[in-house]
Amino acid sequence: MNGYVEKVLKNLEEKNAPEKEFLQAAREVLESLAPVFDRHPEYEKAGLLERFTEPDRAIQFRVTWLDDEGNVRVNRGYRVQYNNAIGPYKGGLRLHPSVNLSVIKFLGFEQVLKNSLTGLPIGGGKGGSDFDPKGKSDNEIMRFCQSFMTELSKYIGKDTDVPAGDIGVGGREIGYLYGQYKRLTGLYEGALTGKGLSYGGSLARKEATGYGLCYLAQAMLKKHGKTPEGKRVVVSGSGNVAIYAAEKITQMGGKVVAMSDSNGYIVDEKGVNLDVVKQIKEVERGRIREYAERVPGSSYHEGCRGIWTVKCDIALPCATQNELDSEGAKALIANGCMAVAEGANMPTTYEATKALQQSGVLFAPGKAANAGGVAVSALEMSQNSQRLSWTFEEVDQRLKGIMENIFASIDSAAAAYGAENDYVVGANIAGFLKVADAMMAQGAV
Ligand code: NDP
Repeated sequence: MNGYVEKVLKNLEEKNAPEKEFLQAAREVLESLAPVFDRHPEYEKAGLLERFTEPDRAIQFRVTWLDDEGNVRVNRGYRVQYNNAIGPYKGGLRLHPSVNLSVIKFLGFEQVLKNSLTGLPIGGGKGGSDFDPKGKSDNEIMRFCQSFMTELSKYIGKDTDVPAGDIGVGGREIGYLYGQYKRLTGLYEGALTGKGLSYGGSLARKEATGYGLCYLAQAMLKKHGKTPEGKRVVVSGSGNVAIYAAEKITQMGGKVVAMSDSNGYIVDEKGVNLDVVKQIKEVERGRIREYAERVPGSSYHEGCRGIWTVKCDIALPCATQNELDSEGAKALIANGCMAVAEGANMPTTYEATKALQQSGVLFAPGKAANAGGVAVSALEMSQNSQRLSWTFEEVDQRLKGIMENIFASIDSAAAAYGAENDYVVGANIAGFLKVADAMMAQGAV
């Protein structure tokens, strides 16, 4: 590996030793950037990698809220503003008990590269809290969101930092967050994306990440003379990304045979009925096991990791980080899987990614494959600035074009740096070069 890259990585590991998710993401990115630094010795002189790996700022704050019994509850909130060389910080908010600084830093770091790949003028950031929305009443969710925004509002704005949804943050939460932002600042501006359609949201935002994932997967398959048509597909998760990935891949002629949540997975050989999944997950906020109770011929299996043993041609991990490990990869390879495209952020472990690639499975990394969500968020920002709303078809067409461009750019970056068909390397390099160029132009800041 390039000596400069090695030195920076070692320093990062020493400085951030407890942050395992962040170091996992940083290692994967830096390793693939080594050939860039071989070609650009001027980057070392400019301290570019030290600056690129250190967030501009990491804000941590207390979030106090009252539960329905009147007890005072305290959670920890975060916003990591990673890099704004090419545009305002942009990235989602995650509400999940597993959230900590390491998770938010890894997501923010990946977001910088992802946002760059969209070709749109957006920098990278991420935020969230260790608050667990499961089992909370609507009023508790609202009080939490209001308290969270009371602090967050000091750091965001339409031209500075524009958060959006992520795990545990959907339309309902964005509504409460936006209401509080407006109340505190008096501004009706696009400081959040993923908003409802009646107050500045974009059509097709809800569908964007899942649809975008399928557009990118389709472009990757096409390059290798394949299509999703007639293929068996496994989609992990059953949240926002999973549901709309399943919807689009079905429209493309694929058959989704399995979906999951954090408790287990369902198998439906006839093809998963998405109306039932949407009713359970979007309307009732229930568990995926209920699918098997409602759809004859389907089955439920306890434990989410077993989903990778279901035979498929295409796997779309759309749940959470590190959900597809070496054992899962081994099962996919043994069953003849031909492509994996990541809907979630870093769902595949480092070892599993290597195993899949070495076995010739086409692999599209999340920072490219799931960039459709943030891309449509950026389109939402444009519509808000113009006080206009585009039609669903218009947004969807733009999304498709963006995802095809992303595939073309990661494909050509991989080839240009001697790693043909390695889309992990291609995505890291293509995303990095644009940010690096902007950072160099803006001087040592
Ligand atoms: P949601 O909260 O809507 O859904 C998450 C889903 O994953 C839920 O069904 C959840 O089940 C399930 N899940 C959680 N852990 C596991 C596990 N270990 N195994 C199986 N299922 C699990 O989140 P999103 O769909 O928004 O996000 C999913 C992923 O996509 C995340 O990695 C996110 O960062 C990424 N992403 C999201 C974007 C977006 O636009 N929303 C954009 C780009 C990336 P349960 O109900 O049991 O918790």
